[in-house]
Amino acid sequence: MGSPKISAVIFFLSFPALGPTDWYKIAPQCAGTAQSPIDLDCYSLKSNIWEENLAIDFDNEGGLVIGSFTNNGHSPTLAIEKSLGSATLSGGPVGDTVFQLEQFHFHFGCSSFQGSEHTVSGSSYPVEAHFVFYNSSYTDFARAADKADGLAVVGAFFELGSEPNGILSRLQSKFEMIVAEGKSVPVVDTDKIFLKDLVPAFNNGSPYYTYQGSLTTPPCFESVRWIVLSETAPFSPSQLIMFNRLQSSTGYGDGKMCNNFRPVQPRKGRDVFLIY
Ligand SMILES: [Zn+2]
Repeated sequence: MGSPKISAVIFFLSFPALGPTDWYKIAPQCAGTAQSPIDLDCYSLKSNIWEENLAIDFDNEGGLVIGSFTNNGHSPTLAIEKSLGSATLSGGPVGDTVFQLEQFHFHFGCSSFQGSEHTVSGSSYPVEAHFVFYNSSYTDFARAADKADGLAVVGAFFELGSEPNGILSRLQSKFEMIVAEGKSVPVVDTDKIFLKDLVPAFNNGSPYYTYQGSLTTPPCFESVRWIVLSETAPFSPSQLIMFNRLQSSTGYGDGKMCNNFRPVQPRKGRDVFLIY
């Protein structure tokens, strides 16, 4: 995942000089033993093993969100105005703890053959969205980010098909306004950004992979309960082009933002469950 605020300074100062394999030089935790992303391959298939099923609940009908959409040089990121409605995550691997949705952002490839951070049995998807939640027993995201139980991130893969994703279509004009790094644009209620339509697997009961891991950018805190949905969301080739227009000076070649994913990290004996 991208880690806004807390890592922004480190990230922007360091990235032009240091690629992912050198991140540990400025952020030692990037060489830790519970890093993300990973290849989701050696998992144990389980029916729910926790008292309560995982629940993702939205404040507004359909998961409507409002906020600001920004090209921060790392990913297109929608920071949610939580006072106007957000989402909570509880149950499943996080038990009674309630996590609050702070923002979501996208990792994507320069071509359709790569882009996702997590892989499934060695295969990549062209886009992976990260919905970043923080433990609401901490005051805010920044205070939660380095705590062992501080964060939960829901990953959602996007898979190319013939039909466009309706919500990405509604975001198209916003994408066009944030092509240049540093640009930001408001997302208002009439933009009708419904998270349940962006990611159809946001129905409680959808199968998911889960394991304990980290932020996928420096400072790589090992504070993330990962929940990666196994059902993909659809989008179209023209929508991948929309992602690929985004620019970044700190990034990934030719002034483009694409390929903004960290390679998979060693699993190092961690349990990975596929919960259905
Ligand atoms: Zn991310």
